[in-house]
Amino acid sequence: MAKSDVDLFVIGAGSGGVRAARIASSYGARVMVAEEFRVGGTCVIRGCVPKKLLVYASRFGHEFEDAAGFGWSVPVAPTFSWQTLIANKDREIDRLEAAYVSTLERFKVEIVRARAVIEDAHTIRLSTGARVRAEAILIATGGWPHMGPNIPGLEHVISSNEAFHLTELPKRIVVQGGGYIAVEFACIFAGLGSEVTLVYRGENILRGFDDDIREHLRLEMETRGIKVLCGHTVDAVEKAGDEFSVKLSDGTAIAADKVMFAIGRRPNIMGIGCEALKIDCHEHGGIQVDDYSRTSVPNIYAVGDVTNRVNLTPVAIREGHAFADTLYGGKPTKVDHHNVPTAVFSEPELGVIGLTEAQARAEFDTVDVYKTSFRPMKATLSGRATRVFMKLLVDVASDRVVGCHIAGPDAGELIQVIGIAVKMGATKADFDATMAVHPTMAEELVTMRERAARYTRAAAAE
Ligand code: FAD
Ligand code: NDP
Repeated sequence: MAKSDVDLFVIGAGSGGVRAARIASSYGARVMVAEEFRVGGTCVIRGCVPKKLLVYASRFGHEFEDAAGFGWSVPVAPTFSWQTLIANKDREIDRLEAAYVSTLERFKVEIVRARAVIEDAHTIRLSTGARVRAEAILIATGGWPHMGPNIPGLEHVISSNEAFHLTELPKRIVVQGGGYIAVEFACIFAGLGSEVTLVYRGENILRGFDDDIREHLRLEMETRGIKVLCGHTVDAVEKAGDEFSVKLSDGTAIAADKVMFAIGRRPNIMGIGCEALKIDCHEHGGIQVDDYSRTSVPNIYAVGDVTNRVNLTPVAIREGHAFADTLYGGKPTKVDHHNVPTAVFSEPELGVIGLTEAQARAEFDTVDVYKTSFRPMKATLSGRATRVFMKLLVDVASDRVVGCHIAGPDAGELIQVIGIAVKMGATKADFDATMAVHPTMAEELVTMRERAARYTRAAAAE
């Protein structure tokens, strides 16, 4: 074998790739990373970060509303400029990308601005025409929006990628999908003043989340003026002058200025050489890896969304770090994908860890359910129609809290902290023994004494 140019070649400078490259290099490996678009990947460039900035922007409307109840009056009606928001967001993303580049440079990782394709187990071909020999290869190419079947007018439909760069805020938008992205963007656009219709094919949005939290969020979204159409799909999009006519599966049509699909993402494996090398993939498209992120080709590894395990930034980062610790740090490290806390940055926000009620009842013999729903204190003087919802699921045999579901302000922040307790195996008695912090919303989590229901498997089976 010809001498290698680098110890590690990383394809993709996103969350997983950047972390793996940096840590591998800190252990003394010679590392090169290829990026075909912008350093930082989905999360920084067109995912979590710009999305959260838009989420913040979308919530000011309610703040103005709430302020009135607390005695404030804004002399001139507040106005909103989408163009200013997008320009400021773009400036912040440029700053972050530069910070990622300088971190990689500081760690002596060589960045190549090119598309990379694996030619054989040790050779990478770059779109510049160059070839690089590497001892090991890490595939960290992330995912890409899936646009579904080729319906008439699909060319008019945008994905979340384009939503970040619209030249103006659409007056009316139809968003298809019922997952994280569809729900978050429906709330963003509605908060900024667009008329939003969410079209979802199933019975209720956010399949896979706890049923109570799904129902709570749907009702809250409807209260905020979002039209949620479940049991429908978009079958065609027709351009009619400056607007679109969105044809639904029941034969009805909706007029809109923009149509966005957020119907899932697919691992980025097309054309990167996986097939030629016979790298095993799952039925759902992700690259198959073992507990140490090794693919079926022994010197080729994969982390992050391209493996389609848990498609969240902190998970991709953890997988990238564990890979580098294992291969270059002499510390074989597995990533624990169990009990991963997550947030949906909807309005209201959701924070979740552990099992849903249905999962808990399937897994344990006896499950206690604690629930509370109340008007947040801030909404009392303003009179805004919104409620907080919280739910704890307890395995009665061990008394462990096996699921926590929150819908309300800062639920994402709350679940990060509650996540520690749940991950540690905290019991309901531990929650109860923790003194409340008053007056807060979170105090309800340690003061829920009245069980809403108890389910026993034996009783359910009768
Ligand atoms: P990515 O970050 O996607 O990076 C892959 C990189 O590889 C990209 O930069 C791509 O250009 C590059 N690439 C691909 N192929 C090649 C090639 N052949 N050669 C060279 N370069 C290549 N997660 C959260 O935890 N919280 C959130 O709030 C959140 N919000 C999101 C909002 C949106 C709109 C989206 C789309 C995603 C969101 N996610 C969120 C998910 C999160 O962004 C991903 O899980 C995460 O970015 C995955 O990291 P990764 O390293 O696997 O891939
Ligand atoms: P999701 O997988 O979360 O949701 C996809 C949605 O599209 C589901 O409601 C699904 O319906 C629906 N769908 C799938 N195929 C079709 C079709 N052919 N026609 C109509 N509807 C369809 O994907 P997203 O795109 O929302 O997000 C991708 C991933 O990115 C998330 O799963 C998450 O891992 C990550 N993410 C995380 C965020 C966060 O942490 N806050 C924010 C944004 C993204 P059904 O339920 O019936 O299958």
